[in-house]
Amino acid sequence: MDQRRPREKKQTKKGDLSTTRPPVLFFILRPQPKPENAVTIAVSTRVLFRTEREQKVFERHGVEEYLRYQIQHENEPFAPGPAFPFVKALEAVNSRLRQLYPQSEELFDIVLVTYNHAHVGIRLINTINHHNLFIERFCMTGGSSPIGYLAAWHTDLYLSADAQKVREALAEGIAVATVFMPEKQTEVSESQLRVAFDGDAVLFSDESERIFKAHGLDKFFEHERQNEDTLLDHVTCFLEALGKLQKKFYAKGQRLDCPIRTYLVTARSAASSGLRALKTLRAWGLEIDEALFLAGAPKGPMLEKIRPHIYFDDQMFHVEGAAEMGTIAAHVPYGVAQKRQAGKRDRRN
Ligand SMILES: [Mg+2]
Repeated sequence: MDQRRPREKKQTKKGDLSTTRPPVLFFILRPQPKPENAVTIAVSTRVLFRTEREQKVFERHGVEEYLRYQIQHENEPFAPGPAFPFVKALEAVNSRLRQLYPQSEELFDIVLVTYNHAHVGIRLINTINHHNLFIERFCMTGGSSPIGYLAAWHTDLYLSADAQKVREALAEGIAVATVFMPEKQTEVSESQLRVAFDGDAVLFSDESERIFKAHGLDKFFEHERQNEDTLLDHVTCFLEALGKLQKKFYAKGQRLDCPIRTYLVTARSAASSGLRALKTLRAWGLEIDEALFLAGAPKGPMLEKIRPHIYFDDQMFHVEGAAEMGTIAAHVPYGVAQKRQAGKRDRRN
């Protein structure tokens, strides 16, 4: 069932488009999991790599000059972008999973999604090899929207730099967030993936929050119970996917040495909503490793200590605050995230 695609390797050997690092390296004995079995993370070029200079060429001089520029510079790798440490950490988790479960397809699978023309693929492949990334799935749409492909890939999470595309993906029920480049970048672990989530409107729907505010805790829990199968917001599905992979480590006695760690970081107080949040997660069968109720204290300094590879929040105020302190933060558009991502939730180990 080898689904590897022998495509880019041939392209780089054409004519004078020689490369210093032929992409043959990234086909080595890595059968790809089927998308329906993997935890599929789609990332755009602009969040995985730094492409600001190229963006400027495109905006000032148009697509033809942009393509010419990319071909002229195709042996120069792009620098790492905001999602780069996250992707490296996903790969570190995959290495541990492959050691423990050599035959399992329950791995992270990374898809590079780009609006670029296929010509730019050579530079992207050179960059991926330069940074020793193992990304074999590309989605190069030549200017068209890739949103339709995301569903076909069974995408569990799509990270983009383009807020408009994020809204389009949300409308299709894809779990998605806009990633921002922090002004300074806090150093993060290379061996343990750390993911932090805001609570309200990220893990918990705003509908539940409205019921809680209007009618109190008892009505809230009644609503939760009645909607147990439908309450999951899209980013919550990603937390669920992380939890399933965590359990594979626990099953091998590696709970204390698990390479995935999750955090709830909410501005609310433990007294007002801590019980509700923790009970809701338990009712959904989800675990969170650490829960921080800040009771109005700013999130940035706490995130600086946690050093997550990514932090999800629905309020730009918090996203900007986190980014200012060096955390890679992702914005989840508030109130649109009601559609449950179908299909993957019922998957079991
Ligand atoms: Mg919130």
